[in-house]
Amino acid sequence: MISDGYFSGGPAGWIEVICGVMFSGKSEELIRRVRRAIIAKRKVQVFKSHLDERYAGIYRISSHDGRSVDAVPIDTPDQIAQLVHPETQVVAIDEAQFLDPSIVELATSLANRGTRVILAGTDSDFRGEPFGPMPQLLAVAEVVDKLHAICVICGNPASRNQRLIGGKPARYDSPTIMVGSTESYEARCRACHSVPRRDEDQVRLL
Ligand code: ADP
Ligand code: ZN
Repeated sequence: MISDGYFSGGPAGWIEVICGVMFSGKSEELIRRVRRAIIAKRKVQVFKSHLDERYAGIYRISSHDGRSVDAVPIDTPDQIAQLVHPETQVVAIDEAQFLDPSIVELATSLANRGTRVILAGTDSDFRGEPFGPMPQLLAVAEVVDKLHAICVICGNPASRNQRLIGGKPARYDSPTIMVGSTESYEARCRACHSVPRRDEDQVRLL
């Protein structure tokens, strides 16, 4: 876990990534770091990729416990580049997994010019496979925190996003983003995570 004073030696920027499953507390942790930066009188800007429209709406970073800070909705890293003020010292970005790969270049150039960049995102999709630009962001970050939720089936630490369509585990080949369906997500551990077809293929391989 990063300490707020750890990098206080000079003007250099850096990249922090907060990753983990849904409900693992990524937004809570991002909000905590943003709040502390504001208390320390840093100039902070917060962005949120708005494919996810949860609870408080797209103009706030909301956590499941109801706390929130204001955020600007964006679709692309390019929009962030255009909106960041030269004097901004901390840039926080939530739901980074939905952004295109150029987020890696943007985070790198912001850090190189002295900005603290905090990115939060789900690192694996419902299949348990790497999600969008997250693997590259994890590789270029100075600091990485991987958070866990509680498996809703067995109570162990959860590291997987269980996708349910009509209450049943979503098949491996169902589309990653589905509009207008009765889908939901649960936090589960590896053992309780179910992805039909992938599981059948693996059994066949053994
Ligand atoms: P994330 O951004 O990772 O999706 P949030 O910060 O929005 O997570 O929410 C985390 C909160 O979700 C927890 O503090 C808890 O109140 C709630 N929660 C709901 N389901 C679970 C679960 N299965 N395990 C842990 N926390 C959960
Ligand atoms: Zn489990």
